[in-house]
Amino acid sequence: AQIVQAEFIKSSVRTEDCPSDGLPEFALVGRSNVGKSSLLNSIVRRKKLALTSKKPGKTQCINHFKVNDSWYLVDLPGYGYASAPQELRTDWNKFTKDYFLNRSTLVSVFLLIDASIPAKKIDLEYASWLGQNQVPMTLIFTKCDKRKKKKNGGKRPEENVNEFQELIRDFFETAPPWIMTSGVTNQGRDEMLLHMAQLRNY
Ligand code: GDP
Repeated sequence: AQIVQAEFIKSSVRTEDCPSDGLPEFALVGRSNVGKSSLLNSIVRRKKLALTSKKPGKTQCINHFKVNDSWYLVDLPGYGYASAPQELRTDWNKFTKDYFLNRSTLVSVFLLIDASIPAKKIDLEYASWLGQNQVPMTLIFTKCDKRKKKKNGGKRPEENVNEFQELIRDFFETAPPWIMTSGVTNQGRDEMLLHMAQLRNY
């Protein structure tokens, strides 16, 4: 499964403004700095496609990228910016939640979780909200190439991944699918592409 072509289509602020051609889409969301741009660029193998910026304000929109003329990757605003005004944060919540609940062509939300650190409260909240609202979700663990040294008290990515899944188990009828990735080594890239192909063909 090789992506040959991906192009930016549009930025939307409301669900109603998103593309209306009915093509299936996958939405990527995660805490700021989780490695979303690196992952997007690893998937499409094109540098700077995501054009994301660390600054809140640049990434407030729902960004649609059309892949191979037949489906979309959607870049959603990151959450958990310490520096964003509370007002703005609430706003992102409102419109991303509206998108999750009302976007009929959304096949699965790819929730990005940093596997190099222990589970964060905000990520657990996000995952449980998706579970409680029965929004289809895939857990995408990022930075799986990062190896913490035991003697420093850090845990291996595999341990963080298992713990995260354990902590959200009660919010899901069936455990969500999950994939371990790295934007550095391209680990998980083919698995993600295969997963998306399978979901599209349901
Ligand atoms: P975004 O804010 O979610 O778009 O995150 P970025 O893709 O910009 O990455 C944030 C930081 O994490 C940068 O310093 C990246 O170099 C680093 N990073 C991103 N992905 C990986 C990864 O897979 N492995 C490692 N070791 N570092 C990563």
